[in-house]
Amino acid sequence: MDIHEHQSKDILAGFGMPVPRGGIAFTPEQAAFRCRELGGGPCVVKAQVHSGGRGEAGGVKVCRSEAEVREAAQRLLGTTLVTKQTGAGGRQIHRLWIEEVSDIARELYLGFVLDRTSERIMIVASAHGGMEIEDLAEDDPESLVRMVIDPAVGLAEYQARELAFKLGLGGTQTAQMVTALRACYRAYRDLDATMVEINPLVVTGDGRLVALDAKMSFDTNALFRRPEVAALRDPGQEDPRESAARDNGLSYVGLDGDIGCIINGAGLAMATMDMIELAGGAPANFLDIGGGASPERVCTAFRTVLSDPKVSVILVNIFAGINRCDWIAEGVVQAFREVGVRVPVIVRLAGTNVEAGRRIIETSGLPIHSADTLASAADAAVRARPQTAAA
Ligand code: GDP
Ligand code: MN
Repeated sequence: MDIHEHQSKDILAGFGMPVPRGGIAFTPEQAAFRCRELGGGPCVVKAQVHSGGRGEAGGVKVCRSEAEVREAAQRLLGTTLVTKQTGAGGRQIHRLWIEEVSDIARELYLGFVLDRTSERIMIVASAHGGMEIEDLAEDDPESLVRMVIDPAVGLAEYQARELAFKLGLGGTQTAQMVTALRACYRAYRDLDATMVEINPLVVTGDGRLVALDAKMSFDTNALFRRPEVAALRDPGQEDPRESAARDNGLSYVGLDGDIGCIINGAGLAMATMDMIELAGGAPANFLDIGGGASPERVCTAFRTVLSDPKVSVILVNIFAGINRCDWIAEGVVQAFREVGVRVPVIVRLAGTNVEAGRRIIETSGLPIHSADTLASAADAAVRARPQTAAA
């Protein structure tokens, strides 16, 4: 789960990370008030959306006066910000963070991620901040410094000093860097984060180390024991289809293709998406209906998939263990009656009660194409698309 920049800064500040002063605003009036609180400007107006690359996309404005802040707020609030990371749909700007201006002497990059190879938290840092990490890794891989943290020891002070040295920081900043690194590490570990990114971490003209931007993501599976983190969720930043699906117990992720997928199990869903690509098609979504899916749940899955206007065919692929093929088949038939399915549907069933399931499909009299294998199902789905969509 992602959270907003201002929430990340608030959390990190609580662990000792220096951040600029600022305040949140939902209206231009509130933005102007925040600016007055900060001494009347200049200040920075920052769109709070779950994405990086806001600066380039026009979501970060340095304003000289209260009037400019109000004007920038008016222009940004209620609009959609499309960045390199959001995709064409963009993200709605519902709130702004109004912050004091910082005098930037140097910009550094600092990230904490989970390194799956060493199974440990790893620090990634660079003396060249401000750029996205993907661009840094491409343009200047030599500048990246990596450091793995031993969970039994925690972040050792000598490691923090060594990192500061590699980034070319002087004596005063090294001491501040030790504090900053400790803050990020503790926040990451204590709150079940999966990512902390400070980009840029700046050295100001008067020699202070400050987090100018901050981004945190959290392990969704640990949210049950982090209610204070779970409370930071902003449904306004989520795809409405994805939130609705989750509320219905489905795991759904919208994608760019036109083949709607209804599948049980995340692994099978991934394999099916691969098979669709291999057959020359593109999936419109990832959807895992989970175990023990009732006919109602299958029906809801159809409704969710069909709410995407790009969908031109639906592929149902079920390998029933805990699930029952007859329930799934009933759900498919029910969907035809209740949802109004106007696209071709391919169904592949295997596992528990498969004969009963197939019988339901065959005797339904509905135009449902049955397939025996995953490969033939994917193939049939690709071929069943209307010519225009396929082109
Ligand atoms: P991102 O584009 O979403 O990563 O948003 P950032 O918070 O990183 O802001 C983008 C850029 O705006 C930064 O890299 C800075 O160059 C600039 N910026 C943000 N805040 C300030 C500030 O207080 N002073 C100055 N001079 N530039 C700022
Ligand atoms: Mn940034």
